[in-house]
Amino acid sequence: MKTRRKMMRRDERWGKTPWRVEFRPRRSETPEGADFVVVGGGFAGLSAAAHLRRMAPEKSVVVLEAGSLGNGASGRTGGMALEDTAAGKLPGLGGVLAGYRKILRELGVKAELSLPGVWELSHGGRPLDEADKKVRAMRNSPIVWNDSGELRAVRKVRGGTVNPGKVVAGLARAAEEAGAQIVEHAEVREIEFTDPVRVRVRLRVGRNVQQKRIQAGNVLLATNAGARELSGLERVGEPKLTFALATGPLTRAQIAELGLSSGQPFYTLDLPYLWGRLFAGNRIIFGSGLVPAFDESLPRSAGGGKLWSGLERFDARKGEAAERLRWLEKRVRELHPALKKVRIAHRWGGPILITKDFLPVFRRHAESERVLILAGFSGHGVALAVYLGRWAAEAMLGRRPLPHWPAARRA
Ligand SMILES: Cc1cc2nc3c(=O)[nH]c(=O)nc-3n(C[C@H](O)[C@H](O)[C@H](O)COP(=O)(O)OP(=O)(O)OC[C@H]3O[C@@H](n4cnc5c(N)ncnc54)[C@H](O)[C@@H]3O)c2cc1C
Repeated sequence: MKTRRKMMRRDERWGKTPWRVEFRPRRSETPEGADFVVVGGGFAGLSAAAHLRRMAPEKSVVVLEAGSLGNGASGRTGGMALEDTAAGKLPGLGGVLAGYRKILRELGVKAELSLPGVWELSHGGRPLDEADKKVRAMRNSPIVWNDSGELRAVRKVRGGTVNPGKVVAGLARAAEEAGAQIVEHAEVREIEFTDPVRVRVRLRVGRNVQQKRIQAGNVLLATNAGARELSGLERVGEPKLTFALATGPLTRAQIAELGLSSGQPFYTLDLPYLWGRLFAGNRIIFGSGLVPAFDESLPRSAGGGKLWSGLERFDARKGEAAERLRWLEKRVRELHPALKKVRIAHRWGGPILITKDFLPVFRRHAESERVLILAGFSGHGVALAVYLGRWAAEAMLGRRPLPHWPAARRA
């Protein structure tokens, strides 16, 4: 009983989101080997797994996820589908949103995708980059809020929203239906860069913990902010914790007063950073805040070097995380009179991996050509991770070269 309560408390640490991932993979014996091992059950890993099997049904594919599906950013994201990358357009990238929509349709993912455009906001028409003189507040901005001065729309860009729980579940279902095997609570602890590659996994089945070695023809590391010691991204990307909250239902009149009736999500171009969107049932999700979340010097026994390199020790109900959430809540209430007394129904946080220059990492591992890394979307991965997951599958099957993007510099 005591253990159960302890486990529940651990699961609640990151807070509850207003959606659920309504999919559990079929239970099955973890195999001794596979043609492709995908590490990470988020948008990137699940998209790659579904595409690998659909493109090469004769190849075996296993997804190893350390927690439950969507345990990282994908299950806790804001769900704004954005064009391009956090670093803008990159050579050969193609249309991310058009590709995303096509992938969701082909895989049968009912994601509540809506692409009405996204408002870019700024405080008093202030650009993030002083050199960007084009930023001017719109005179007829639908959004006029109070946030350290007046917050208004400056322009509309391409994009929209999805239901993140439905995307995770839909991608996982598509991967499993195509024949990929998905194993939850399977944390990869070590990789031997041999041929074939050997992956050491810590499996939790009920209360039992087992260690297992799996042989893999090829490996995709889609672990985002986690397991950076495996991906070699310790110095390239910095894991941060970012926070969100969801209000209870508002009336249609309140949504109109707030300028959100069109269903367009928004984010600020300048600081203090704020993003948000409407969610089912006239609720609004707001998010902000990045906490540098860990102490590299901590030993593993004290939470360092673990799955999130210590991030998972955060509890959305206390400490710095709770403080950030309280600050966000206060800020939201002051934005507009319609929000002053609004009920806050959900509070949560999630990890993102910010890279220097905001460039995604999509390349072979320094130790082995057989290990591919796809990560580091810098808070811009809802559409991009799924889109590049497909490209990763093509690259692993030798059907498409990797892009020639500038390498993310060391932080
Ligand atoms: C609060 C929040 C709001 C956001 N809002 C937006 C937004 O509105 N728009 C946008 O474009 N982006 C947004 N993002 C970013 C976006 O969600 C991410 O870029 C995207 O989800 C990354 O997907 P992923 O598959 O690469 O990583 P993740 O979803 O983090 O998946 C990585 C998975 O790997 C697993 N893992 C890690 N280590 C191991 C290991 N050793 N063994 C096995 N499994 C392992 C983790 O448990 C995790 O499930 C937001 C992120 C957060 C946290």
